[in-house]
Amino acid sequence: MPVYKAPVEDTLFLLNDVFNIERYNNLPGFADATPDVVEAVLGEGAKLCEEVLQPLNHSGDQEGCKRNADGSVTTPKGFKEAHKAYAEGGWIGLAMDPEYGGQGLPYTLGAVMNEYASSANMAFAMYPGLTMGAIAALYVHGSDEQKRTYLPKMIEGTWSGTMNLTEPHCGTDLGLIKTKAVPNGDGSYAITGTKIFISAGEQDITENIVHLVLARIEGAPAGVKGISLFVVPRNKVGADGSVGENNHVSCGSIEHKMGIHGNSTCVMNYDGAKGWLIGTENKGLNAMFVMMNEARLGVAIQGLAQSEVAYQNAVVYAKERIQGRSLTGAKNPDKAADPIIVHPDVRRTLMSIKAFNEAARAFVIWNAIKSDIAHRSGDAAERQAADDQLGLMTPVLKGVLTDTGFDNAVKAQQMFGGHGYIAETGVEQFVRDARIAMIYEGANGVQAMDLVGRKLGRDGGRAIMAFFNEVGGFLKDNAEDEALRPLLAPLQVSLGHLQQASMWFMQNALAKPDNAGAGAHDYMHLLGLVSLGYMWARMAKVAQDKLNAGANGATERMNTKLATARFFMERSLPETAAHLVRITSGADSTMALSAEQF
Ligand SMILES: Cc1cc2nc3c(=O)[nH]c(=O)nc-3n(C[C@H](O)[C@H](O)[C@H](O)COP(=O)(O)OP(=O)(O)OC[C@H]3O[C@@H](n4cnc5c(N)ncnc54)[C@H](O)[C@@H]3O)c2cc1C
Repeated sequence: MPVYKAPVEDTLFLLNDVFNIERYNNLPGFADATPDVVEAVLGEGAKLCEEVLQPLNHSGDQEGCKRNADGSVTTPKGFKEAHKAYAEGGWIGLAMDPEYGGQGLPYTLGAVMNEYASSANMAFAMYPGLTMGAIAALYVHGSDEQKRTYLPKMIEGTWSGTMNLTEPHCGTDLGLIKTKAVPNGDGSYAITGTKIFISAGEQDITENIVHLVLARIEGAPAGVKGISLFVVPRNKVGADGSVGENNHVSCGSIEHKMGIHGNSTCVMNYDGAKGWLIGTENKGLNAMFVMMNEARLGVAIQGLAQSEVAYQNAVVYAKERIQGRSLTGAKNPDKAADPIIVHPDVRRTLMSIKAFNEAARAFVIWNAIKSDIAHRSGDAAERQAADDQLGLMTPVLKGVLTDTGFDNAVKAQQMFGGHGYIAETGVEQFVRDARIAMIYEGANGVQAMDLVGRKLGRDGGRAIMAFFNEVGGFLKDNAEDEALRPLLAPLQVSLGHLQQASMWFMQNALAKPDNAGAGAHDYMHLLGLVSLGYMWARMAKVAQDKLNAGANGATERMNTKLATARFFMERSLPETAAHLVRITSGADSTMALSAEQF
């Protein structure tokens, strides 16, 4: 059976030593997050994930969700109780406003918990995850009355939240949405339409479900400029907050799908359901973007989470499974063969996943802190800079962490040989579960286009220039450090590749947009690799400083960090060269064939 241990020690190294979150004590909520509190919070979270969520992962996958004849949905055995434990532990409201029952702690800690929960049981973690996204959208764009009505119940976990964008004929192109909203004359709207693929659309773990639904008000302009966002509770809510009769919202069916079997994926029918406008008419996408950006970071974390749990299981197996002999002589002479971890190709595989996971965790935390700054800082310039970075990096996090997370789940599966293909070992579930993260919340091809088409050039390229300055400044500041030099030299080269690619787009994409489209995927991965390389540079510097200072009992851990950093710089980062070559070859060969020639 698969195992999982939350990487608390690695997280604490990042929070305390690399990003030094104590220095953000001026931000609301951070002063309460002392190192002791953070360690205690993460320890509790790890325990819940390891002892409650992880044991339900395999059984939840085998059992799946069932839609009953009356339209209700039964989630796998144990999910309801696990959700109760999750909610009662205060995890849904960890970073939420205390005015509505939250704890007001940094969002960064919520992102860490999301990683642990998604590694332990991704299908389960989506239930509270979607609720948190819906809370964020209501918190930013909801009216005071909407916030008072929904937020306390959602934060305490008795009601859940969902996001309803997709319709049968549109997923990426939301301008095509047909679900309609007709004013009732009393401030509410009658919502009618069908949404598909709605995660957690119906379930048996909360007493009510708060659907956030994109719809078009009668007479609204065509396209994305005519879409509004509505809050539509499954059951009507009385003035005293009581849950009443069904609000003409029903689950028509649930999908049978490749992975995340424990999460219900629903066709949702709205038959004149009563809904209330969130924010301004026809500005629904703006409001939904709060939820989508939060969800994109959440999905990025799913990529890391599946990569991590798959890696942990591959390591256990590679140490146990004996096959063949080491190329440098028997390591296990008393046994018939050596464990497969002696083989360089197995090492290459494990190192590449490990080097990705630790940098990806840093990349998530670095950006989660920016999210806290963007939402909580009193300094407008600081907020702006943090928001710039988040805008630039959100598609990179989503696209790169989920593409690589899936690749890594496959690599980890490979370590099991044929046994990895057999359901019993549990590792094939990680592959199946990881796959969806590349698709939902905007397919990764669309993330790449968002990066190159919108984020790169926004405000005269301010965000990417700030990134160049930050990485370039770090390299300059540490140029004299002999110990770091072999690690920083490859990063300098790859930063150059990124700058050349950015310049190439500026010169070649405006007149010929296909050049941007054909190079977008490579650019997203190029920026992702440089970002991960920068994370390794920062981690290596801290590790080296700690070693220089005596390391305080952490010598082996810091040496392990430096060795992993070296692997990343020597073996993963050089891929930036190939990305640059592909980008600068332009779109001609990609677009050479007519549609008929395929
Ligand atoms: C298990 C599951 C759970 C989901 N949960 C939710 C949910 O909770 N709420 C919700 O609203 N939706 C949900 N979805 C829907 C999901 O977000 C969409 O499936 C996804 O956004 C892609 O939309 P589509 O399926 O219509 O594909 P399409 O939009 O038809 O895209 C098909 C392909 O074309 C590519 N493509 C399309 N347009 C472009 C373009 N302009 N440039 C480049 N490439 C392009 C895409 O990258 C994709 O590879 C879920 C889906 C699944 C399978």
